[in-house]
Amino acid sequence: MQKDIIEMLFPDAVEYNLILESIGNFAEKEILPTAKRVDQEEMFPRQNLEKIVNQGIMAIPFPKDYNGLELPYPVYIAAIEMLAKACANTALQVSIQGMICEGIRLFGNDRQKNELLKEKGPVEGRSLASFALTEPCCGSDAKSIQTKAELSNNIYVLNGTKTLITIPGEADIILVFARTDKGISSFLIPCGMPGFTVTRVIQKLGFRGHRLSEIRLENCKVARQNLLGEDGEGLDYAKQILNAGRATIAAIAIGIAQAAYEKSLLYSKERTAFGQSISNFQLIQEKLADMVTEINAARLLTYYSAHLRDKGKDFTSEVSQAKLFATEMALRICDNAIQIYGGYGYTDEYDVHRHWRDARLLTIAEGTSEILRLLIAHLSLKQI
Ligand SMILES: Cc1cc2nc3c(=O)[nH]c(=O)nc-3n(C[C@H](O)[C@H](O)[C@H](O)COP(=O)(O)OP(=O)(O)OC[C@H]3O[C@@H](n4cnc5c(N)ncnc54)[C@H](O)[C@@H]3O)c2cc1C
Repeated sequence: MQKDIIEMLFPDAVEYNLILESIGNFAEKEILPTAKRVDQEEMFPRQNLEKIVNQGIMAIPFPKDYNGLELPYPVYIAAIEMLAKACANTALQVSIQGMICEGIRLFGNDRQKNELLKEKGPVEGRSLASFALTEPCCGSDAKSIQTKAELSNNIYVLNGTKTLITIPGEADIILVFARTDKGISSFLIPCGMPGFTVTRVIQKLGFRGHRLSEIRLENCKVARQNLLGEDGEGLDYAKQILNAGRATIAAIAIGIAQAAYEKSLLYSKERTAFGQSISNFQLIQEKLADMVTEINAARLLTYYSAHLRDKGKDFTSEVSQAKLFATEMALRICDNAIQIYGGYGYTDEYDVHRHWRDARLLTIAEGTSEILRLLIAHLSLKQI
């Protein structure tokens, strides 16, 4: 169905599907084989990112001026879906990396674009990026963050704690949100600079290839040129950066769900009970039918929202709907996959519980389902 959507959106661009076919083959040959080990050994898949960069996948949506390929966002979304089907951990890193690059592309000044997108090359995977908004006090309520950035003699001094942050210990650069006297602002700073400490690693349920950490900023002195965009505009930037991120999170959810569905389909044919294949039972067929229907519905919504982004439209509501529907859908699909596998689905011998553990994050990170429902309703009510 992926190919059909791309063809429907870009009837004259056969090459997009050729690119996606090659990415699909690459993901199956090069990324899938280590997916289980990445989870079991909690191994950050950095070598996968290098391979992905070599395939040009990171570069798909970015302008040619900044080492990108300037291809449509739905093509990027389809590529992320394929990566997530093979290894969700790997797709998540591409998603975070892409989000930071999008932030620099949208809000960085020329110097930042040149230095951070061209020279440091996150699009080419030469530097690894992380995103730090959440604090112990507040996640959803981002406008209440307490980390401070005090300006004196052209230097911002950052103090505060960020928690539940993905890979700040492994990354090279991090986008940190902090409060100045003008409001919330965003700073791109090198990880591990003086005053920046990873204080705690937090164990978790899924996405085990990514270390989750708490960081402390203590008199962290940051030059004015590290401010991304305008002072006081950080919250608005975060919303726009998260819009791009939410489309990729929806794609990851679809990729995970597709993997769980395809495995369930095969297993249901192989497993026998009461002298026949369990796929003959209508209650199993009902689950399989719901799975494929919901995956395709999520895909249409997600690719459509990505298309709106390319058209320069405000796609906040559509991308929020896509993220809300796709992530809740992935959880239902993975839960049903475990049910179809019976007791084996609960064991480490099969992949489906890894898919469920990974999917479980997606209704929480980058906007919980509750916050997205509030946002979608607010935007709908504003229209009348
Ligand atoms: C594995 C993992 C990786 C993460 N990576 C990052 C990262 O790299 N960078 C980063 O900045 N953050 C990251 N986060 C944090 C994540 O973005 C937050 O957990 C998320 O935004 C929710 O914030 P919270 O956990 O503080 O929950 P809270 O905001 O405390 O919410 C708790 C519950 O209350 C609900 N709720 C809150 N407000 C309302 C409301 N007004 N109406 C109805 N319900 C409400 C929420 O939906 C939720 O169900 C990560 C989290 C995890 C688990």
